[in-house]
Amino acid sequence: MLPMKTGSDRRPWRHALLSLALCFAVSPAAAAPDVVVSIKPVHSLIAGVMAGVGNPALIVAGSTSPHVYALRPSDAQRLASARLVFWIGPIFESFLVTPLAALANTAEIVELDRAPAIELLPAREGGPWEPHADEPGHRPDSGRGAASNEMDGHLWLDPANAKAITAIAASRLAAVDPANAVRYRENAATLIRQLDGLDAALEERLWPLRERPFVVFHDAYQYLTRRYDLAAVGSITVSPEHPPSARRIEAIHAKVASLHARCVFREPQFAPHLVDTVIAGTTAQAAVLDPEGTELPPGTALYFTLMTGLADGLVNCLDR
Ligand SMILES: [Zn+2]
Repeated sequence: MLPMKTGSDRRPWRHALLSLALCFAVSPAAAAPDVVVSIKPVHSLIAGVMAGVGNPALIVAGSTSPHVYALRPSDAQRLASARLVFWIGPIFESFLVTPLAALANTAEIVELDRAPAIELLPAREGGPWEPHADEPGHRPDSGRGAASNEMDGHLWLDPANAKAITAIAASRLAAVDPANAVRYRENAATLIRQLDGLDAALEERLWPLRERPFVVFHDAYQYLTRRYDLAAVGSITVSPEHPPSARRIEAIHAKVASLHARCVFREPQFAPHLVDTVIAGTTAQAAVLDPEGTELPPGTALYFTLMTGLADGLVNCLDR
């Protein structure tokens, strides 16, 4: 009887070849710096700039909203060994304010809301956007009486800001890791071209929706609605971590009815019952948008998946 050929005699070669291939695939020109990024959309852009060199670590990695995130011991460890940290700023990731203050001597911290190339919009107030006294807002100082000069941290939702983040990342990475500077700059140039393509595609898809009123769950979308001329007319809650008052729900319900809003968008991680109450007895439909990518796996594709997913959600509900 012939012995069964298992192929096991070839395995040592395959192992050796595989190890060699992996070695070439992951060996950058020099060891990548330890980079930590706060939230998924920004992490996606930084990961694109670092492609082929290393992988940035991500803090808010799961399906939790950054608005309600609490720092874990493993996050603190990552931050302690970081060379470079990217975050939006205290207007958005309030859970990072204290930990980052302790890192001042060991890491370079890039606060994107202070970058001159980023267009920063004031947090909306007035009419349906106005925070009530019982809804302090998701800015860390807002519960202590700060008011009108607060800024809106959802700045990644304008692709022009995504391009600015990409350029900032390439220059800061090149400064701390000159051995890989050429790679960072080339990756950033490629990513910026892809973001231009995404912007043009979104413009074309969203243009027909510009007159169609809708309501969103929390006020995350003004960077998107401003860029593409969309007609968001109100939000149910200013801050996801503080439920809206009954009075506000009633005001939004009246607005949905009087404006004939076509859609009220909830978000995947928040319970649907508030949206159901707001659309009861109106012609509006409920649908879902995920502006912070809580349901998406992190990585270089996330930014594009997130923005395309928002366009899909808007088109599917508003274009009927
Ligand atoms: Zn938000």
